[in-house]
Formats: sequence, structure tokens, C-alpha cells
Amino acid sequence: MKNVEAESSKQSIGGIPDYNHLFDQSDKVKDKKKKGLLSKLLKMNTKSIIANGFVYLIQASPTWAIPIVSANLINLATVALGTAIGMTQSMWIELAINVAVLAVLLFQNVPSTRLRWRIVSRMNRRMSAGIKSAVVRKLQSLSITYHKDVFTGKIQSKFIKDTETVDMLFSAINHNIIPHVLTAVVSLGISIYRSPIVALFFVVVVPVNLILTEYFRKKLRKSYRNYRISTETMSAKITNMLEMMFVTKSHGLEQTEIKSADKTITELATSGLEVDKNTANFGAWLWVVNTFLSSACLVFCVILAIYGKLPVGDIVLYQSMFSQITTAVSAIINATPQIASGSGALCSISEIMNATEVEINVGKKHIPSIQGNVKIKDLYYSYPNTNETVLSGVSLEVKAGECVAVVGSSGSGKTTLMNMLIGFMMPTKGDIEIDGKSITELNLSEYRSHISVVPQNSILFPGTVKENITYGLAKYTEEQLETVIEMANLNEVIEDLPQGIETQIGEHGNKLSGGQKQRITIARALIRNPRILILDEATSALDNLSEYHVQKAISASIRGRTTFIVAHRLSTIRDADRIVVLEEGKIVEVGSYDELMQKKGRFFELKELSDANLKTAEMSIDGE
Ligand code: ADP
Repeated sequence: MKNVEAESSKQSIGGIPDYNHLFDQSDKVKDKKKKGLLSKLLKMNTKSIIANGFVYLIQASPTWAIPIVSANLINLATVALGTAIGMTQSMWIELAINVAVLAVLLFQNVPSTRLRWRIVSRMNRRMSAGIKSAVVRKLQSLSITYHKDVFTGKIQSKFIKDTETVDMLFSAINHNIIPHVLTAVVSLGISIYRSPIVALFFVVVVPVNLILTEYFRKKLRKSYRNYRISTETMSAKITNMLEMMFVTKSHGLEQTEIKSADKTITELATSGLEVDKNTANFGAWLWVVNTFLSSACLVFCVILAIYGKLPVGDIVLYQSMFSQITTAVSAIINATPQIASGSGALCSISEIMNATEVEINVGKKHIPSIQGNVKIKDLYYSYPNTNETVLSGVSLEVKAGECVAVVGSSGSGKTTLMNMLIGFMMPTKGDIEIDGKSITELNLSEYRSHISVVPQNSILFPGTVKENITYGLAKYTEEQLETVIEMANLNEVIEDLPQGIETQIGEHGNKLSGGQKQRITIARALIRNPRILILDEATSALDNLSEYHVQKAISASIRGRTTFIVAHRLSTIRDADRIVVLEEGKIVEVGSYDELMQKKGRFFELKELSDANLKTAEMSIDGE
């Protein structure tokens, strides 16, 4: 994978790592997959993780040095106080060494902290970028059928929420787990070295904390689950509320929506309270039990000191070590839910990564240019997991430069046929040939660079008119832009916009009318100068003037290229060389407009129906 350098001039993450192979499908069992993914991710970052641990030991050395030096100094003082000669020269030297070691360890903390944060931060950011980039690549490689079946919101949540949860998991591993495990191990090691009997006391801390956690785990887990469900409900509620805003406002239902939202907000707050209560309860018990153990240890150490089995200064050392061990154990326990949810999020991301509806273009026939001859040969199609044959025995030969209009009642298979011409779905039986080559053997990505599609619902993004027209084009000339604006009949529209072609069109182009939006998508299709143009006419009724403009744009577009138009307004297809009438997935009539009208067959019926509907619509508008 090509590395993409971050633009920042100050610090770079050193390129996005390639994580595509991380999510292979070898791990079939879900739990195995969870562990597999996490351990694979950790393995890929082993060097940084080890560096993090190593630098942490240096960075945190004062936390162990302070109690040791304190103990040494108190012991020195008690010895000096207990003898008549007081401090000897060697004792002064010992004192000086202790202070010097402490000073060195203390001041190295500044550079080591900076170094560790750099290691950890870079690792976390790179890992996060690697996962996001792998998801984006996978999303782009998945077929349109996959994207149609999966809710966009679900993918968005996986991309944003789940990758953030994985970020937090790594943050927890690097900032909590590794440092605290090391702290516990070093503190225990020092304690065992100084006094194995007292250290035995420390070993009790771990099981006691685990028992306590186990006791509270069920309650905590239940309240966390309820809280998560309430959060998801809240998020769905707000999305729904915003989507319905137009209907809500136009029906005066604001108060109903507010009441309904308030109910969800109250449920969220109540479940949040339950989480707070259980967390506080757990925290209080953890603190009391650990402080009790610490006090018991203190008493034990004091008794040992009284009987001369322990230097007095070591009491301070053990208290400090005890506190470090309990803090570390609690922190590790507290981080476990983060590890569980991070692993879950990784699993959730892998659902996208393991989706099999991928379009494979590697090894397919190159198609550097096309003429635009299309031959549909006895084509059959059934959608996956259905018994219905949506297209059956469709055959049609279209010469380069010809314009074919496809008509038929709703559900007759027009969109399916167009999607098959784009190569979104492959024939169940039969074939589609482009310049004599089967579509199944073509590199579809290359093939699609020679075709343009104007979808039924004009898909625009927030940006300027110009950006929307030139979407995805690395190079174009002003002349090309002007030509397509002229062809798409957009001149007047652009002149009327406040900043002309540089006007921001708002989300989904909501500052423009239906007809204007469609003409922008036509211009977008034309600027690529496609050999094949697929035009799905908008079903939503346009007013007469808009329809005239769109029709003019379509007429200009079809010249000199193979064009397929799915026509909903039958009056708009007089320009077509041939009209194909589809019914229940079969071609029932083919001919020119005049031929079919004379034949008085299915097309004639559809035309009559369409005219009658138009009249009714006009009459009802007049009546209003
Ligand atoms: P048209 O564009 O002529 O209205 P379509 O090609 O959209 O017709 O649909 C033809 C038939 O295919 C319909 O019966 C429709 O229910 C079915 N169909 C369309 N899309 C799918 C899909 N993704 N899965 C299953 N059936 C589908």
C-alpha cells in the first residue's frame, strides 16, 4: 500500500500503516476472532509496546526511588539517634548518594515523559489511521449491492464509534495496563527483595480485589448495558427527529416530538444515574478494603519493627509500595471493561472487513478505450436469496452512438437492467458484451471510467457547483467546463446564483430545485465525455419549465455516444432512436416512437396512461 504522508509540517505519523491483512477470514469462531484481532494488532506494534514499557520504567523510577530513599534516610537517622557518635562519615556519604540518585532519577523524568508520550502517541495515532484507512479501502472495494443492503448509519457508526473505541482500547493498554502491570511487578519485586514476609501481605491484594470486582461485575455490567442501550436509543431518536423535522413542523407536532424526546432523555439520565450509583458503590468498597489491608500491613510492619525484625524506615517503604500496588491493581481492573468493549469494536469493524461482496478486478481484461457497442444476450437475473427472476431472456443489440429509451411499468426491471449495464450485478444467465467482450471478464473499474451515470435522485454533496460538476476529476479545462454547462443547460441557473459557479449548494444541494440538481448531475456525467451514458430520469414531477430545461439538457447530452435512458415521462423520449418496452422482466416491444404509437400495443397503452395522469395532475393544480 502506498504510504500517505500526513500534511502536518510539525509532526508526522510516518505514513499510514497497512492493516488490510489484519482482518482476514481465517478465524471462524467469534471469540477466537476477537482475541486473534487484538493480539495481531499488538503483535504488529510489538516494538513500540516494548519501547513504551522500557521508557516507562525509567520515567516512573522516582516513584520507587522516593520510598526507598525515604526508608534509607529514616533508617540512617534512627541509627544516628541510637548511637552516641551520631552521623559517621560513611553515613554522610550514604546520605549524599541517596540524595544524588534521587535527584538524577527525578530530573530524567522530564525527557523520558516526553519520549514516552511520543512513542505512545505515534503508535496510537498510526494504529488508528491504519484501521480507518483499511475500512475506507474495504468500503470502496465492496459492491454496490453490499452498500444497498447495509444501512449507511450502521457503517458510519462502525467507522466513527468503533474505531474510536479501538483507539481508547489502545490508549488504555499503553497508558494504563502496561504502566500499572509494571508498577505492580516492580513494587512487588522491591518488597520481596527487602522483606519476603511483608511481601506475602501484598500478594493478598490481588485476589481480594478480584473477588470484590467479581462481586460487583454483574451489577456494573447490567447498568452499563442499559446505559449503552439508552444512548443508542437516544441517538436513533435524534436522527429520526431531525429526519422528520419537515413533517413535524408542517403538522404542528413540535410538542409531541419534545415530549417523546424528553421521555428518551429521562430514560438515558435514569440509566446514567444507575451507572453512577454502582460505580460509586464499587469504588467505595474497593477503597475501604484496600485501605483496611494497608492499615493491617502498617500494624504488621510496626509490630515487626518493635521486635527489631524490620528497620523503622522500611515501614514508610512498605506503605508506599502497598499503595502503589493497590492503585495499579484497581487501575487494571477498571481498564478491563475498556478492553472488552475495544475487542468488541474490533470484532464489529471486522464485520465490514470480512464482507465477501467484493468486486475483484485483478487479472481482468484491460479496457483502455471503448467504442460503445453493447450487446445484451439472452440475459437472466435473480437477486441473491430470492426466487423471482427479475430479468428473463432480455436480448438487445445497441450500436455505438445509438440512443435507447427503456420504458415499462414500475417493477418491470428497468433499474436492474441499467445496474447490470454498469456492471453492479453479473448475469445469472446470458451475457452483456461491450465491444464484443463479455462484461464478466472486464476490469470493471476501468470500464466504468468510460461510462457516466445520471441517477434518478440527483446525488450532490456540500460544496460548490463547480466542485459538484468536476467531482473526481484530477484535470479538466475551463473550456470543457463551459461546454458541459452549456450542454446541461445550466448557464441561466449559474448566472442567478450569488457567487455563480463558486456558490455553495448546501447539504444534498438543498438550495436548488429538483430540475437544477438534475442538470448539475448531467453536467457531471458529461464532463467525463463518456462513450456510454446511462440516464435514469427523475420520477418526481418537475414543473413544465424545469422539464423543458432538463429535456433540452438530455437532448444535447445524447449526441455522439451510446445512451440508455430510463424514461418515466413518456413525452421526453421522442429523441430516442429506439424504445424498448419491458414488462415483468421481458422485452415486449421494440421500435421508434412513431412505430410503437402506430402499433397501438403496450407502449401506446403506457403513453395513454401517462397522458391521462398528467392531465389529472394539471387539473388538480388548476383546481387548487
Ligand atoms: P423498475 O426500475 O422497472 O421499477 P426494478 O429493476 O427496480 O424495476 O425492480 C424489478 C424487480 O426486482 C422488482 O420486483 C423489485 O421488487 C425487484 N428488486 C429490485 N431490487 C431488488 C433487490 N435489491 N433485492 C431483491 N429484489 C429486488
